[in-house]
Amino acid sequence: MLVVMERNATQGQIDAVIEAVQALGLTPQPIPGGSRVAIGVLGNQGYVDEEPFRDLPGIQEIIHVTKPYKLVSRDFHPDDTVVSVGGVRVGWNQEPVVIAGPCAVESLDQVLAAARAVKAAGARILRGGAFKPRTGPHAFQGLGYQGLEYLAEAGRTVGLPVVTEVMRIDQLEPVAALADCLQIGARNMQNFDLLKEVGRPGKPVLLKRGMSATLEEFLAAAEYILLEGNDQVILCERGIRTFERALRNTLDLGVVPFLRQVTHLPLIVDPSHALGRRDLVGPMAKAALVVGAAGIMVEVHPDPLHALCDGPQSLDPGGFDSLMRELRAILPAISPVGSIQERHQVGS
Ligand code: PEP
Ligand code: MN
Repeated sequence: MLVVMERNATQGQIDAVIEAVQALGLTPQPIPGGSRVAIGVLGNQGYVDEEPFRDLPGIQEIIHVTKPYKLVSRDFHPDDTVVSVGGVRVGWNQEPVVIAGPCAVESLDQVLAAARAVKAAGARILRGGAFKPRTGPHAFQGLGYQGLEYLAEAGRTVGLPVVTEVMRIDQLEPVAALADCLQIGARNMQNFDLLKEVGRPGKPVLLKRGMSATLEEFLAAAEYILLEGNDQVILCERGIRTFERALRNTLDLGVVPFLRQVTHLPLIVDPSHALGRRDLVGPMAKAALVVGAAGIMVEVHPDPLHALCDGPQSLDPGGFDSLMRELRAILPAISPVGSIQERHQVGS
């Protein structure tokens, strides 16, 4: 529930509402607005009766929140949340972040080569899967803990924070010890027990949209994480499954400006998994930034033709470097921040 105060409500009237909320055993959350204050009510599991508020002066309107999320909503938290991934800031009005790296960590050499290439081109976070959620059990399942160590070593070597997927609760501790950000994949977006565990404050979370999840379900999944106390959540649109079969998924970029209005949590776009084809990754990465995404995540492999996972959608180092140059060229025209990390010399 949201109690919206009148424009000229006094501090005493605001305090009276806060006390009435507390008297119900619920948590008031004052939300400063431009011209009027609202008080969010947290902690209820059902409908909150309006009776205790009926005779209180200074209230303009009581809005019952029927959506399954509050904490992720701008109604309850108007200001952008800026997520820090190993010091890299990710937020709606920040310099767009580029996360890049292989689909899966295949060897130390492979992930090091990818890390050097993406760092040199200007990526700011390294990705790489150690635990891979594969559709079929015969496909490469990832190197597991060994892969995690290779990824961490590659990140340390080139000086990039790393993000990697966790699939199970028992993987959380060892992954959190080595990774800067925990990825919850599309297939686990509604693994509510896992969401609650990553919600314990500690590491930022990259939450990918389930392939058949509505935006309401997507935000409700993020709400599970925030409710446990961790507000360091980056949302990731990675395409959804529709009747269209020509491409791997359907990338609806309309969600970017829409979610920018609805939530303070930053949203990035993953055109690699959305399109499934490397020739389409660049155009949609550019489009994602043009419509205001807080960043992109793209798969880059030193030798995509021999990749053990998602080769057809992986850029090679040259392709990624070209994409970064194109992004850098268009960004000043579209971004409030107007820049993107310059190229880096990477030592060996
Ligand atoms: C990934 O990013 O490694 C991945 C498996 O993507 P998704 O969960 O979106 O399918
Ligand atoms: Mn992949």
